[in-house]
Amino acid sequence: MQADDLISEHFRLAPVQVKALEKLRLESVRDLLYYFPARYGQVLPEKKITELLVGDQVTIYAQVVQAKVSKAWKKKIPMGEVMLEDQTGRIKAVWFHQPYLAKKVAPAHFARVSGKVAERKLARHSGGGEKYLANPEIESVSGLGNHETLFADENDAEINYLLPVYPETRGISSLWLHHAVKKVLKNNLQENLTDYLPAEIIRKYNLPKLATALVWIHSPRTESDSLAARKRFAFEEIFFIQLTRLRAKLNYQEQGAFVIKAEQKNLDEFITRFPFPLTGAQSKAIKQITEDFTKSAPMTRLLEGDVGSGKTAVAAVTALGAVLAGGEVAYMAPTEILAKQHFESFISYFRHLPRVQIGLITGAGCYKFPSKINPNGYTNISRTQLLKWVANGEIPILIGTHALIQKAVKFKKLAYVIIDEQHRFGVMQRAKLVRKNNETHSSTTTSAMAPHLLSMTATPIPRTLALTIYGDLDLTLLDELPAGRKQVKTEIVSEAERNKAYAHIKQELESGRQAFVICPRIDEPDPSKELALQTKSAKAEARRLQEKVFPDFTIGLVHSKLKPRNKEEVMSDFASGKIDILVSTSVVEVGVNVPNATIIIIEGAERFGLAQLHQLRGRVLRSSHQAHCYLFTSKASGQENARLKALEKAKNGFELAELDLKLRGSGSLASGKQWGLSDLGMEAIKNIKMVEAARLEAQNLLKTDPELKNHKIIKEKLAEQKSEIHFE
Ligand code: ADP
Ligand code: MG
Repeated sequence: MQADDLISEHFRLAPVQVKALEKLRLESVRDLLYYFPARYGQVLPEKKITELLVGDQVTIYAQVVQAKVSKAWKKKIPMGEVMLEDQTGRIKAVWFHQPYLAKKVAPAHFARVSGKVAERKLARHSGGGEKYLANPEIESVSGLGNHETLFADENDAEINYLLPVYPETRGISSLWLHHAVKKVLKNNLQENLTDYLPAEIIRKYNLPKLATALVWIHSPRTESDSLAARKRFAFEEIFFIQLTRLRAKLNYQEQGAFVIKAEQKNLDEFITRFPFPLTGAQSKAIKQITEDFTKSAPMTRLLEGDVGSGKTAVAAVTALGAVLAGGEVAYMAPTEILAKQHFESFISYFRHLPRVQIGLITGAGCYKFPSKINPNGYTNISRTQLLKWVANGEIPILIGTHALIQKAVKFKKLAYVIIDEQHRFGVMQRAKLVRKNNETHSSTTTSAMAPHLLSMTATPIPRTLALTIYGDLDLTLLDELPAGRKQVKTEIVSEAERNKAYAHIKQELESGRQAFVICPRIDEPDPSKELALQTKSAKAEARRLQEKVFPDFTIGLVHSKLKPRNKEEVMSDFASGKIDILVSTSVVEVGVNVPNATIIIIEGAERFGLAQLHQLRGRVLRSSHQAHCYLFTSKASGQENARLKALEKAKNGFELAELDLKLRGSGSLASGKQWGLSDLGMEAIKNIKMVEAARLEAQNLLKTDPELKNHKIIKEKLAEQKSEIHFE
């Protein structure tokens, strides 16, 4: 057996299994070894059916005679029943409340069943009762054939390891994976695999070698073996992510940048015109950025600040620095609404400098400030005209949506790129924007300069995760809200308390405030989808609120399927106070700024992620009035409530992110997938020491060997690895 052998060369696979393996992306035998268990269970001893005693915790292998769903013996609770048979006898497996478990197997299939033997008293019989397996775990082992023949080479009496439980998919059970992996390990395949983790690091941190770790992760004898193995693989994952990111940064920085020497006097003069003093955090951020500007290597910085912390002002001041130095600025935002809003904010900040023209480019049209006719306002211009002026360097600040990255958009001397809500863009989109100079100049200059990059985000993520996935960015935290902001009062509201909450909201509306109502869906539920039935649609909710709850107020509706023009209209009516209540899907999540809106209702709160809820709540953190956030939820279950409670408790995004990390059971709701991390990598994120160690080792390695000349196998591995990098 060789690592590159296809699984199908060594295992007889039914068509459904072939499909399942494809879905799990398991192709080669090596892939099997790298498919790790999510957790470990206890191995229950195996018995024949006639040997079973009441109270036994056992595993049986048997054929399914019958599987059915019915009502329970006495009370009318739903029940699943499976009759099982082996060579020695028959026994029933019974599930109360979870009748569907009986559907996991079909008659004539073989099944592995493990659980506790219980007894049902039979009234009419005097002695004994009827034995059954109560709520056992069951899985079909058909496709494997009869247990007797399939596992004949194994002596299961000798089992003395923890039973691995693998993530399953239809067609491939955890048990199948367990036995397949065991077969591969028995062939000692693990001994011939390349260990990419440098030996010095393995020694230094006392990690198991690859071969050992593979055995320990798949069939550990003790919990500490499994933990050691998981630690090793987690370390490896973080280490390689760090290496990739840090190398990408080195490459980016090799391009050189426009050196921008911003005169503090000019910036100060600009800042004093703001209708507010900067927070300490904003000033510090501006200082860090303008310091980066003076270096010949381009800045790659992440500005992470809670919603409402004032990132736009930081963007504006630093943009001024770049413009005064003769460069151009591109400022990209993920939605039209947001781009327009930044455009308007920038106009208010730059109004006294009419020579600094500002452009806006979105799918909905192009605008320019100032307008020739009205020096205080902006004007609609053609895309061609706008692009011509931008290419000539006549419009030094260009704000826009994804429209900014189109090929036709060319700059004269792009010095500074700002990406707002950076997580909302794909890697390629971000990369395209920072490579604009290469596009424009590739034919004329040998090496184009790279713009300084400021990525901005309000996504509250834990520090360890930030260090990992943003390993290529320097971090600036805006950890201070403008003075006078009050905490948003957050309340979890059950169905029973809904009307009470509405009464309070009515009072607020009557005193002149405005409200957001966020719904999980746009349209009427699709009755074919069970889940959809329980969630509110924005359209229906808008109608209901207007008719039944708030007939005296004006209600508006906005969602992603509206035409840009209509969307804009509704948003501006809300901003100007014509609309009292804005019913919306989560499109308002990012950036929308309506200071008079002090109430936000979130319907089906349990359906949103914590980070998203926090961002939504930030919408009403814009004024000095007390703001309220109502989390309407029908779920009373513990896990969901713990999540929502964290939201009531956490003071800021950073605190919330840490709480969220703690609440994530391994492999549960929190898949690291959105960050490009495996479940194992997510486990590592809980361990700051490990993340810091992996980062340190990656930094050291690149310091001593930036080209990886002496680390050929690491280079090889990095070349294979696909990874999310922010500007390559
Ligand atoms: P975010 O960080 O979420 O992008 P914004 O830049 O949209 O926040 O700022 C939110 C609001 O706070 C805006 O109305 C802005 O004018 C205001 N603001 C920004 N900085 C300050 C400050 N230092 N003091 C008071 N208000 C501020
Ligand atoms: Mg913002």
